[in-house]
Amino acid sequence: MQSLPTLPSVTKLSSVVTRVLGQNPGRYTLQGTNTYLLSHPSTSSLILLDTAQGISSYIPLLRPLLNPSSRVTIILSHWHEDHVGGLPAVLRLLHELGCPKPKVWKFAEAGGTRDQGVEAGLEGKEEAEWLEKASPDEALMEGGRISRLRDGQVLKLLADGRKEGEKGALDEHDGLPQLEVIHTPGHTSDSISILLTTPFSPDSASSSPPVLFTFDTVLGHGTAVFEDLGAYMSSLTKCFDTLSALPNGEAIQLYPGHGEVIDNGAAKLKEYLKHRQEREDQVVEALKSAKDGEKSTAEGLCATIYGSTIPDALRPAATRGLILHLEKLEREGRVERAASGAVEGEPMPGWNDGWRWGTAEAEEGRGSNL
Ligand SMILES: [Zn+2]
Repeated sequence: MQSLPTLPSVTKLSSVVTRVLGQNPGRYTLQGTNTYLLSHPSTSSLILLDTAQGISSYIPLLRPLLNPSSRVTIILSHWHEDHVGGLPAVLRLLHELGCPKPKVWKFAEAGGTRDQGVEAGLEGKEEAEWLEKASPDEALMEGGRISRLRDGQVLKLLADGRKEGEKGALDEHDGLPQLEVIHTPGHTSDSISILLTTPFSPDSASSSPPVLFTFDTVLGHGTAVFEDLGAYMSSLTKCFDTLSALPNGEAIQLYPGHGEVIDNGAAKLKEYLKHRQEREDQVVEALKSAKDGEKSTAEGLCATIYGSTIPDALRPAATRGLILHLEKLEREGRVERAASGAVEGEPMPGWNDGWRWGTAEAEEGRGSNL
């Protein structure tokens, strides 16, 4: 494992954002899950991005940043346990402090079974019953406790005395930070990124430049893992385009779900895309050079592409990554798969399948064009 820089448990990153580590360091969680508390001196409204894993030493770090008048909105970046597992404990803390009822938001996961799991974590807990209920049209699940985020939705810190959904002429000019939700599937189907902007206001002493929270779509160190490569690459492009559309966009920082803040976010997004494209080119090259259109397995391709450049311990992960590349190429109609059927004990579906460049339809297509 690479050695990672040490991050303090609590860091004030800007006048608006404080990062609190989930106290769950590990191979996949790096220095632990980053949670971000957004606040502004002119309001008691706060937004907490993610709740970490539920490690008990996290709560004493969060407690001093809140008080009984804190009006907290919680946004969950995706269903993974290291981001949502702390939700019951955070709700309990707010309940104990006597804070107003919080509201919890999340993007719906494809299929919904994981979302049911998030809800099940709240089942039968007093503090979950106390949670601000979603209105019926927002309800994400039968429990109706968690509100469903939409792509492009804007949430903001609310001026005191103002409720969510209330519109007023002052809103545009109150100088309070606002968040734009960007659906960025790939790591998981429900992954979001969030663009934080602080509108200019004449009375705010300093205005912070925008930042993009990428959560697990882009990490502070190394590369991220994903479930669906095609969706993942589209999401990286979507993030890149979001930054490019902003003034001085190339300088905007990324705030990841794990690891240190990333300077020059656009360059990092380009690097991630380039890395994936290079890997895809290697897969295409290896398939094209198979003799007589012979089929290759992902493990065989792993040996061809990586050779002895990686230790044996990393081969299963590398093979898994190649299967995701192959599935993307298959969906694009560029690769043909000969399914071997599920084999008991295989590390993931597709492990023993054979892959060949080109498809029957593509061949026919080419023929008819002659
Ligand atoms: Zn994570």
